Amino acid sequence: MTPFSYSRASDAAGAIQLGAVAQAKYLGGGTNLVDLLRETIEQPSAVIDVTGLSAAITQTDAGGLLIGAAAKNTAVAEHRAVRTQYPLISRSILAGASAQIRNMATVGGNVLQRTRCSYFYDVDGSRCNKRVQGQGCDAIDGFNRNHAILGASSSCVATHPSDMCVALAALDAMVHLQGPAGARVIPLTDLHRLPGEDPQTETVLHMGELVTAIELPAPLLGTRSTYRKVRDRASYAFALVSVAAVLALEDGIVTDVRLALGGVAPKPWRARKAENSLLGAPAAEAAFRKAAEAELSDAAPLRDNGFKVELAIRTMTAVLTSLAGEAS
Ligand code: SF4
Repeated sequence: MTPFSYSRASDAAGAIQLGAVAQAKYLGGGTNLVDLLRETIEQPSAVIDVTGLSAAITQTDAGGLLIGAAAKNTAVAEHRAVRTQYPLISRSILAGASAQIRNMATVGGNVLQRTRCSYFYDVDGSRCNKRVQGQGCDAIDGFNRNHAILGASSSCVATHPSDMCVALAALDAMVHLQGPAGARVIPLTDLHRLPGEDPQTETVLHMGELVTAIELPAPLLGTRSTYRKVRDRASYAFALVSVAAVLALEDGIVTDVRLALGGVAPKPWRARKAENSLLGAPAAEAAFRKAAEAELSDAAPLRDNGFKVELAIRTMTAVLTSLAGEAS
């Protein structure tokens, strides 16, 4: 591990001041960053511990929830308002990791965690454009069963690992940021970048900018929602495909639908094509499948992950069919 300085901030302003040095990194629960430090993938000059920042979960004036970035994943999943009003958030967190990791990991760290592409972590044996710009990507012609089928590029085909972010994307969550140039609020769906020619730039964060909170909008009245994760084994595995869905019906017609996919793209994938196909359509399995097929029409599978296309279509169809059954 490369030596770095360590300091602890008690508020966002202090953290930003401490982070105003080249190669500084903010530390949440450390459940991803510490691995990256050990592997020397991350070599910061300074680590600023931000676990002392707000972990409060409070009601907003608009009827939503504001979740402090230092809130532990467990606290969010178990919070009464989250469980009752945003059950897909609780489900996604509980599907995401072991209890020990959920007890350590913070919401701010969760949204900024990095890919689990095994070639990315194989520092001594594999080429990776995300680690070394222009080096090449050994996943593209390697074992790529877990990699992306949507939104990837010829530079990087890694998937985003977070379950919670998929649920947040479906809910139109907002991300509160604070940095040297001030505060701003952006949609979660705009936080992560697709790799394009520059897979090292994974988010739209500016230098020294810090995630301070996640804001959930007021719950949508008359909707049903869920999160379903398909993986190789029942626990402690990243998604092959996951679906977060919010659905509202009126007289058997879809009046509102929000869909996001995980495990298939370099960022939480908001399924806008499927949503557009479904608005005003009958809430029937055939329409759900047609919408899912529309979303996957741009899929570009690799040698080992072609199965994800049909898996995503079937999972979306099954989730929507199930939600429609509950709603009718
Ligand atoms: Fe690196 Fe991305 Fe290729 Fe994985 S898929 S080896 S993270 S460039």
